[in-house]
Amino acid sequence: MCIKKNMLVRVQIEDMTEQGEGIGKVDGYTLFIKDTVVGDLVEAKVIKAKKRYGYGKLLRILTPSPDRVESRCPVAGPCGGCQLQAMNYAGQLAFKRRKVENHLRRLGGLDIPVDPVLGMEDPWEYRNKFQVPVGRNRDGKIICGFYAGRTHSIIETEHCYLGNEINDRVLRLVKDHMETFGIEPYNETTGRGLVRHVLVRQGRATGEVMVCLVINGRCLPHADRLVEALCAIPGMTSVSLNVNRERNNVILGQELINLYGPGHIVDRIGDISYQISPLSFYQVNPVQTEKLYATALEFAGLTGNETVWDLYCGIGTISLFLAKQAKQVYGVEIVPAAIENARENAVRNGIDNAEFFVGRAEEVLPEHYRKVWKETGEKLRADVIVVDPPRKGCDEKLLDTMLQMQPERIVYVSCDSATLARDLKVLCGGGYQVKKVQPVDMFPMGVHCEVCVKLEKLEKEKTEETSRKA
Ligand code: SAH
Repeated sequence: MCIKKNMLVRVQIEDMTEQGEGIGKVDGYTLFIKDTVVGDLVEAKVIKAKKRYGYGKLLRILTPSPDRVESRCPVAGPCGGCQLQAMNYAGQLAFKRRKVENHLRRLGGLDIPVDPVLGMEDPWEYRNKFQVPVGRNRDGKIICGFYAGRTHSIIETEHCYLGNEINDRVLRLVKDHMETFGIEPYNETTGRGLVRHVLVRQGRATGEVMVCLVINGRCLPHADRLVEALCAIPGMTSVSLNVNRERNNVILGQELINLYGPGHIVDRIGDISYQISPLSFYQVNPVQTEKLYATALEFAGLTGNETVWDLYCGIGTISLFLAKQAKQVYGVEIVPAAIENARENAVRNGIDNAEFFVGRAEEVLPEHYRKVWKETGEKLRADVIVVDPPRKGCDEKLLDTMLQMQPERIVYVSCDSATLARDLKVLCGGGYQVKKVQPVDMFPMGVHCEVCVKLEKLEKEKTEETSRKA
């Protein structure tokens, strides 16, 4: 059968893309169909037909997959926030494990076992952070919500099931304030208008709440009235403005204007407390963060004598856990506000064996390496190196320096298994062996998956043997 646009087809969904779209075949021709789940038998309309593959629109589910469930959220389909809500949680965890395995095999050349994904008991209301754009809908009403998948049109969200009612209250107050005082939302096309994004962050352990409005200017009309209204929300600790006048996709600008409170909130993970500024990265799922950090700490295998580098350290979250069990920890992070938080956090937890540097990991570490080499003729020492880079993974210069340093163990915490696989290939080529791969589900209902990997230095003989064979 030759597949053409507008044709109606019956498709058995056999697999899913990394983005959570169903994949099925009709007479050997591959179709990608959004909103379907592995195991569904569906009727679809072909909306685009290329030579080797096409796209279908789901019309009817003929036989639902055993993993299919009713989406909880009414806008689960159009909203780009959740891609896997129509799949039960066990199915989501299996999907993520397969994704990590595939990446490691295909992009890393690594045929190694991946542990079952550590999931949540209750995979809802987990997010401690909301960052949503503000705009107008077709009727001219001010709305906040997530972007529809792969677009910049905002899907209004009155309540997101991944968060709690505090976000809903904040967003309602911000919208009311804008309507009352005629404040324009920012328009991406014209570059006009004031309010771009609303950021809400909660310390789930402490109950402290932070609100930051990202604005295309330096002044919010009647800001005192908004602060007053927001302060009626229990736990409101910090209200600020972030100035972003650039016409780009980056959400936060550099400048903060404090409206209320100390400019940060405090949260706790395990027995360590952290102050967090609006500009600093902080993991969004506190329940799973504890599991992730516990895994990273276990993989680091510390006894109290080790020197550890924690690269991409943010506000020093992992660094401070490590510091409690190591001799000395050095953290490196690019955002100055995060390093300020990290230094404060060491002090507030009485930790004096952690030192932090602002800069790019791929510059700071090689510079230290060269300096120590020049001054002492010895290699910069690390027993363990921890990396936790953003999605794009580690820079090659950084990986090179890590290989020169030859730590006993490397712990790689990754939020993108594709770049993880690429980097592991380099590390394994440089004399390291992957010992354990533990995915942790930080983003239930979404397609992303966090992974923690333990690498060990191959003993010398083994390295030589491998290189002789090669
Ligand atoms: N380990 C921390 C932060 C991980 S997120 C935690 O668990 O909380 C990744 C961090 O890397 C962010 O804080 C980001 O600002 C930082 N970053 C991004 N590029 C960097 C680079 N080239 N060098 C150092 N840090 C970088």
